[in-house]
Amino acid sequence: MTNWQKSDWRNKPRVQMPEYTDEATLNAVEAQLAKYPPLVFAGEARRLKSALADAAEGRAFLLQGGDCAESFAEFSADTIRDTFKVMLQMAMVLTYGAKVPVVKVGRMAGQFAKPRSAPTETVDGVELPSYRGDIINDLPFTAEARIPNPQKMLQAYTQAAASLNLVRAFSTGGYADVHQVHSWTLGFTRGENAAKYREMAQRISDTLDFMKAAGVDSSRAHTLQTVDFYTSHEALLLEYEEALCRIDSTTGMPVAGSGHLLWIGDRTRQPDGAHVEFLRGVQNPIGMKCGPTMTAEDLKVLLHKLNPENEAGRLTLITRFGAGNVGDHLPRLIKTVQEEGANVLWTCDPMHGNTIKSASGFKTRPFESVLREVREFFAIHKAEGTIPGGVHFEMTGQDVTECTGGVRAVTDEDLSARYHTACDPRLNASQSLELAFLVAEELSD
Ligand code: PEP
Ligand code: MN
Repeated sequence: MTNWQKSDWRNKPRVQMPEYTDEATLNAVEAQLAKYPPLVFAGEARRLKSALADAAEGRAFLLQGGDCAESFAEFSADTIRDTFKVMLQMAMVLTYGAKVPVVKVGRMAGQFAKPRSAPTETVDGVELPSYRGDIINDLPFTAEARIPNPQKMLQAYTQAAASLNLVRAFSTGGYADVHQVHSWTLGFTRGENAAKYREMAQRISDTLDFMKAAGVDSSRAHTLQTVDFYTSHEALLLEYEEALCRIDSTTGMPVAGSGHLLWIGDRTRQPDGAHVEFLRGVQNPIGMKCGPTMTAEDLKVLLHKLNPENEAGRLTLITRFGAGNVGDHLPRLIKTVQEEGANVLWTCDPMHGNTIKSASGFKTRPFESVLREVREFFAIHKAEGTIPGGVHFEMTGQDVTECTGGVRAVTDEDLSARYHTACDPRLNASQSLELAFLVAEELSD
């Protein structure tokens, strides 16, 4: 990796990136970002890598989740707190139910840029460039809003810094203390799983009370008072990523400073493309989405390019085939990974292969398909003797109606009631909790 430069991606074919027209502003923004402090530090990324190496071997489990696209308009302390709460609840269900430490990674503090299925969108005969996330352009359907504006990178940086600051405070400031397990419940989560959660929380507090009575004062145990919470996003906008890339003073190697874990999307994983070129050079743990179009040939090249030293914890394969399709693709990818002797962490994204357009016209995901893909993922790893090491969800702590189904059944007609996502439909808090119980069951089987 000695010859790698953070700007080398500029000589490679790029897809899904904006064509900025205002060169002078772009250059000024990049120069500004390059002077700003990194958002995360190399030692943290290394710590996450070692936690992911544990997950790859079944000694831990990765829970990665958050918005499809973070939005400038929806940014608030409450939104961050509620997503964080749901992640803590899910992690507690997994830790308690499956007796396995949970590595918590948010799609947060940087998840702003979106790949799109088409470069333009046509409404009533008017064709405009697609919305590509708040770091690039704006959602309203006007020609002006859709012009990519480099200045938006500065706002994204500021929002990411503020989000991370809050999440760090929640993680270590007492909010995530296991003694608070009851208080993470959100008012609107109801149904069987909310009751199951309350029972579990009660058993946890009884255990803590018992320990205290027996002379072990857990209220001062650092590991029970704090959590490690990491950030992640799709490294799509490479101008932003390059500007925040830094040299780790401990190792002398380049590290992406925009988030702890960065992933390559299913549409930008061309072995000779710009995104692979950038990510192969940074030392962070990285993820790669693998959909049905991933071929054995490409996977082989990518395994070597992205993890030439075959380092444990470096590469997470985030598989997303769609319910009913896992059996057609996961076994063949497992075979390729085994033939190459590659170290990878296998995780399941049951969201992106299951997006449909509802009869009411909304983009949605049937919760049943999400559950089914998770079950298929576990079943295939069991049959293959490989390790299902994590899950990747689009979820929110807000009481939205974006995915249909779940215990508080959201119907097609309900979608319009509280459909707030700027991009893909997310699981709400009740659906997320239901999923966590399913995963805990699968893990303890
Ligand atoms: C996403 O994670 O929001 C996404 C676009 O995923 P994929 O690259 O798997 O389609
Ligand atoms: Mn998405």
